[in-house]
Amino acid sequence: MQVYLCLNQIYMQNINLIDREFEVFIHANDIAKRVKELADFINRDYKDDAPLIIAVLNGSFIFAADLVRQITIQHSIEFIKVSSYAGTQSTGTISEVIGLKTSVTDKKIILLEDIIDTGLTLNAITSQLLVQNPASITICTLLIKPDMLKVDLKAQYAGFHIPPKFVVGYGLDYDGLGRNLPHIYAEKT
Ligand code: IMP
Repeated sequence: MQVYLCLNQIYMQNINLIDREFEVFIHANDIAKRVKELADFINRDYKDDAPLIIAVLNGSFIFAADLVRQITIQHSIEFIKVSSYAGTQSTGTISEVIGLKTSVTDKKIILLEDIIDTGLTLNAITSQLLVQNPASITICTLLIKPDMLKVDLKAQYAGFHIPPKFVVGYGLDYDGLGRNLPHIYAEKT
């Protein structure tokens, strides 16, 4: 018990990554609860389908791993990669989607993202997938910053609506660092 408290205190401290300081914003326990709820919605809504989950790397790797272990219906998962960010600012451009090995034609797709900021990334990915005529595409994101959205993007499953803060942890990074943190941390202002 003493060891647990001790470790918990260390984890709850503010952290520094490169030149920025971050504080705990969403605790790991709250993330776990919400991930379970999102999985329950998907289990309910897709019980008669076998959706193809497409997770956008790198940021979604922890979210995807936790979510699919709570999904009890039949499904498959693929990982794709694009890049849109350098540092803490969106560049607003994405390169081509890479890594998709399966055809999405006639499939029910769930696009999995760690965070939606401007929405440009998922908007571009969606357009590229639509060319192949999937049966449907829905979006499941752990975090969304509604005030930052630049496109009309609907996230059917959204874990947390957050203010326009820069966040790290639980897969999210600041220039490659912080993905391993168990909580989500927000930059201190
Ligand atoms: P969007 O195209 O502006 O919606 O950006 C989506 C991508 O930007 C996400 O997949 C993340 O990789 C990255 N991103 C957006 N906001 C943050 C943040 O607060 N922390 C870390 N990465 C972020």
